[in-house]
Amino acid sequence: MNRFDYVRPNTVAEAVQALGADPQARFIAGGTNLIDLMKYDVERPGRLIDITRLPLRDITEQDGGYRIGALVTNATVAYDARIKERYPLLSSAILAGASAQLRNAASTGGNLLQRTRCYYFYDTATPCNKREPGTGCGAIGGVNRIHAILGASEHCIATHPSDMAVALAALEAVVQVSGPNGDRSIPLSEFHRLPGDDPAKDTNLAPGEIIVAVDLPAKQFKTNYTYLKLRDRLSYAFALVSVAAALELDGETIRTARLALGGVAHKPWRNPEAEALLQGKPATRETFQAAADLILREAKPQSTNGFKIELARRAIVRGLEQAAAGTPQSQSDKRIQ
Ligand SMILES: Cc1cc2nc3c(=O)[nH]c(=O)nc-3n(C[C@H](O)[C@H](O)[C@H](O)COP(=O)(O)OP(=O)(O)OC[C@H]3O[C@@H](n4cnc5c(N)ncnc54)[C@H](O)[C@@H]3O)c2cc1C
Ligand code: SF4
Repeated sequence: MNRFDYVRPNTVAEAVQALGADPQARFIAGGTNLIDLMKYDVERPGRLIDITRLPLRDITEQDGGYRIGALVTNATVAYDARIKERYPLLSSAILAGASAQLRNAASTGGNLLQRTRCYYFYDTATPCNKREPGTGCGAIGGVNRIHAILGASEHCIATHPSDMAVALAALEAVVQVSGPNGDRSIPLSEFHRLPGDDPAKDTNLAPGEIIVAVDLPAKQFKTNYTYLKLRDRLSYAFALVSVAAALELDGETIRTARLALGGVAHKPWRNPEAEALLQGKPATRETFQAAADLILREAKPQSTNGFKIELARRAIVRGLEQAAAGTPQSQSDKRIQ
């Protein structure tokens, strides 16, 4: 491991200033991703800015919804009585991720900024445009079973690994950030980006910015929701495909539909056309299949992940069925219902 300095600011302004002063600096929150990356020599920060003393650990009411501080742990969010009651989709998605120990340490901000689990990104002996721009992409034509089927580019086919972000995308959460040029809000669906020709950049966070909070809007989807995660092993593993589905129903008719997919793209994947297609239609398998077909119309397989397209099709239909029936996927009994 390389040598690094360590600082521990007490305010957001100090943290932003410390980051701006050193291009090699990185914030550290729970450390569950950054420390791994340092051990693999993928990240080599010259300075760690420990943000765990910043006053960002509260969940507060905000415009009929809630504001979750960036340092609130994944476990705290998932088990908070207010979140469980009003945003069970978010609780469920968080509990589908990682392990209890990891969720106790992992923070809301860090979860959004965790990096891809692409094998080549972690292996410094292989080419990777995300880790070292211009070196190529080892995954294209290589081992790409876990990689993207939507929105990939010729430079990178990585996926974003967060479960929490998928639920936040469906809930239309908003990320609050602070930086050298002041504060701004970024809708969750615009927070992560597609790889394009600059895969080193995971998000639209500007240099020097820190996440201070995530806002949940008033709309909750308390009844008709599910987070369905398909993975290689049930104990814990990243999603091959996941579906956050949230519906509002008028009897058998869909009034509002929100659908976000994980494990298939460089960002949580939403398709407004598919959501519009669902609206006003009967909540039937045929309707759900039509939405799945529309979403996957643009899907492109890599050399070894073609199975993901059919897996995603089935997961979308099953997820929408679970949401419509009000029988969300259990995250303790992980077998698919
Ligand atoms: C074995 C294992 C299994 C896992 N399984 C899953 C899973 O199934 N699903 C899932 O979703 N996740 C999974 N994870 C990932 C885990 O959820 C993330 O590592 C965790 O959420 C990251 O949060 P952290 O606070 O530890 O981030 P850190 O490691 O501290 O930081 C991660 C990144 O975010 C930056 N950062 C942190 N906070 C801020 C902030 N407020 N503003 C700006 N930048 C910030 C850091 O600089 C760093 O670049 C797994 C992790 C491991 C190790
Ligand atoms: S898919 Fe992206 S992260 Fe993986 S090797 Fe290619 S460029 Fe790197």
